[in-house]
Amino acid sequence: MLALEATPAEIDELDQGQRDALDACVIAAMTLCTPEGDARGRARLLMECHGRYTRSWGVFGKAASFPAFLNQLRSAPVGALLPGPGSWSEIWDVRLLEDDGTATAALTRLIMEASDQAHEVPGLSADLRHLHSVLRALGKLPPGARLARIAAEAVQHAVFRTLQQAGFAAYTEGRGTLVNDPVLGRRALSRYALLTDLGVYTGISPVQQFAGRWAPCPLCKGTTRATPRGHHGAELACEDERHRQRGARFKMESDDGQWRLKPLGEIREIPELRPVEGWVALSYGLWQWITMPGLLEIDLEALAYGAGADVRLWPFGDS
Ligand SMILES: [Zn+2]
Repeated sequence: MLALEATPAEIDELDQGQRDALDACVIAAMTLCTPEGDARGRARLLMECHGRYTRSWGVFGKAASFPAFLNQLRSAPVGALLPGPGSWSEIWDVRLLEDDGTATAALTRLIMEASDQAHEVPGLSADLRHLHSVLRALGKLPPGARLARIAAEAVQHAVFRTLQQAGFAAYTEGRGTLVNDPVLGRRALSRYALLTDLGVYTGISPVQQFAGRWAPCPLCKGTTRATPRGHHGAELACEDERHRQRGARFKMESDDGQWRLKPLGEIREIPELRPVEGWVALSYGLWQWITMPGLLEIDLEALAYGAGADVRLWPFGDS
């Protein structure tokens, strides 16, 4: 197999569509070769990647169909997967998967280096480090192994499986807490021995605080991202785009030494600004992959219940 030196400079030569396509391919290829996660979750992720891949080809491009996309990921060099004009770049000749379906060295590097999204999402590298430590503690990540955002299913699997091993009550309480309380006071956390041991809660991320304070999203209760604005203020907004669109955006400014939030969207109910000390939160990946899908499941359950269906949320054994 070709040894690749995929330098970031090489990735810079690609245009935006090509980079988006590469990103989708890299995630999809990693999904194909990871042994973690359940088949349905992986299939969903592959379809998401294909959707992104198709969009990256633009309105007039002819992206491969889903089955052809999967085939090409297994056997074609990167150049055959990307839209637009070719290049002399070495990356063009590299394959993402070996003949036996395992990740090439190139893929392992690309998932970290070529994945625009991983770098664009602030705090994700700290988040990945936290995830690594959680998974390592769960015995799911051998020393030296690397992992990227692709690991959504693997993370859910690892966390839920570990909760299940602690029995029904611990599982139900743990999963409920992860969904309903993405942020906890340190003292509240100490009441959950299992979650404390798992190390899933960590200090408030540096990109989710400003002037030593943070605020929860009114919709998911997760920490909001703090983006400095001007010299003496910041914008605090939920990391979830749908929540931002629904109004989970606030301006943080100081009046006579007192920090205050003002709404920037339709949500008028202002969340409380809290000091960073004394609080712990799920890092980005855990909020994204456990809290958010869990909230959706609760919504669906309420919907089904309202329609008269008898639904049991998170039956023991589902992971
Ligand atoms: Zn939110």
